[in-house]
Amino acid sequence: MMATTHALAGVALGTAVMALVPEAGIIPVLAAALGGLFPDFDLYAGHRKTLHFPVYFSALAVPALAVAAVNPTTTSLAVALFLAAAAVHSVSDIFGGGLELKPWLGTSERAVYDHWNGRWLAPKRLIRYDGSPEDLALTLVLAVPPVLVFDGTIELLVIGAVAISGVYVLLRKPMVVAAERLVAALPDHVVDYVPERFIRDLR
Ligand SMILES: [Zn+2]
Repeated sequence: MMATTHALAGVALGTAVMALVPEAGIIPVLAAALGGLFPDFDLYAGHRKTLHFPVYFSALAVPALAVAAVNPTTTSLAVALFLAAAAVHSVSDIFGGGLELKPWLGTSERAVYDHWNGRWLAPKRLIRYDGSPEDLALTLVLAVPPVLVFDGTIELLVIGAVAISGVYVLLRKPMVVAAERLVAALPDHVVDYVPERFIRDLR
């Protein structure tokens, strides 16, 4: 799934919690958005392994949510929602496509790494690949609660995330074709400087 889908999943979760505990303010919602994004900061270094922890984030989120339920402060809710959104992200990557240059081909058996069991979990491809039409549909659904609840900056950020998602969906496949052409056209001594991981799939 797209980074924006994951971020908006966090925002939707945060929006629901804010409806229950409005006095906690906006910080827990922002923490949830950041938690939704956070695992994908490993995009350039061990993607879906370095910062994706489907088991550990979930194991940390449960007690953090329990603490926040008993003592709902801005801080306890922010911590709990960050961990919950990061857990949702890591687990939901299982339902997307695999780790490959063209995930719509469905050849990779690696969705996300399970550090607890020391193995890759296979993709279920409910959302066939990041930037697929069904991914955009999910983004739109997740954007509804925050757009209804918030005005001003948050609403604009959410609409902006949806707009970026729409552009990404349009460019998702052409981008790969362009990258393949670029690598094919590059002289070898330049290709040497591009990380192996990007070249392997492109050639
Ligand atoms: Zn991810």
